[in-house]
Amino acid sequence: MNRTEIYLDHAATTPVDPRVLEAMLPFFTERFGNPSSIYAAGREARAALDQARARIARLLNCQAREIVFTSGGTESDNLAVKGVAFWHLVNGRGRHIVTTAFEHHAVLHSAEYLERFGFHVTYVAPDADGIVQPEAIEAALRPDTILVSVMYANNEIGTIQPIREIAHLCRERGITVHTDAVQAAGTLPLDVEELGVDLLSISAHKFYGPKGVGLLYVRSGTPILWQQHGGAQESNRRAGTENVPGIVGMARALELAYEELDERNAHVQALRDRLIDGILQRIPDSRLNGHRHQRLPNNVNVTFAGVDGETLLLNLDLHGIAASSGSACTTGSTEPSHVLLAIGATPEQARSSVRLTLGKDNTAREIERTLDVLEETVARLRKLAGARSR
Ligand SMILES: *Cc1c(COP(=O)(O)O)cnc(C)c1O
Repeated sequence: MNRTEIYLDHAATTPVDPRVLEAMLPFFTERFGNPSSIYAAGREARAALDQARARIARLLNCQAREIVFTSGGTESDNLAVKGVAFWHLVNGRGRHIVTTAFEHHAVLHSAEYLERFGFHVTYVAPDADGIVQPEAIEAALRPDTILVSVMYANNEIGTIQPIREIAHLCRERGITVHTDAVQAAGTLPLDVEELGVDLLSISAHKFYGPKGVGLLYVRSGTPILWQQHGGAQESNRRAGTENVPGIVGMARALELAYEELDERNAHVQALRDRLIDGILQRIPDSRLNGHRHQRLPNNVNVTFAGVDGETLLLNLDLHGIAASSGSACTTGSTEPSHVLLAIGATPEQARSSVRLTLGKDNTAREIERTLDVLEETVARLRKLAGARSR
């Protein structure tokens, strides 16, 4: 197998920062105690957990007790959507949920699951630039709407949503509002007071932390029925022995991301702009998907007319370049991206698209190399396709 030399799939996952790994290591070895144990080693783990929670709360501008640690973005999204819905199933009368057509499947499939329990879901379409207009959310609200869930930034096309405005609309009407901030964390402001959301999901492995750990911010007073039962961990809200090394790593990774935010964003944005401009100038019939400016500083998603995206990715891989055709979770399936379809792409256009997402350690040289390989490969694949169709 060849090796990945140029990694351009940071929306799928990121490598653990060596400084994060260093913070985690003691909790695999000498400081291995269970935070629920009463003896010294347990208390030591408990202290590390409390400290991580307090540090993260400072970054989110919330109370430490409003943070529930989870196994990642998927669990946080499931807990938010199902937790609020099931609270209302037991305590309320509202049965209506509003979300968008281009959410991550963790939200979409949770919403679809809830339809089986009698909930009605409105899937609001983003506009052609990949932005969910607050007016479109407002138009979908009903007297029985209990929850609005809109992602902060889209994982395939990187577009940034007007979460403040959407949250404001909801809170005026007493509707609980969740945002999947998994792609935004480490890049965009995460102040929950500023954003005005009641629930917010993040996942450590998207910002140079470890896989398998995340959190759900839950504003105090939010109607929610906890979904995982067992021990009394997380103040009876999420049972199971805490992932102490992971949580310590997530706190460190988040701190580093916000300490280095301006620097990292400026670096990847310059590379992103070079990559977008280079593609659009050098490769005919290529098109950028999603708003040119209202997008994450690291996201490039392009359609190369007449080129099969999966074939292009295999060819990039042969050159040691890692990219993806949208969401990592749907790779391998032949379904065209639901995100690209939601912004008006045809299935054919969606299948001719690739996502390149940059990271803090990419270099200008890597971008130039990627442009050369893309130009050559797209031209070659088009020639082959043309020869076959003649
Ligand atoms: C990656 C991702 C998730 C899932 O997070 P995991 O920690 O991998 O379960 C959810 N939502 C978005 C927007 C993502 O990018």
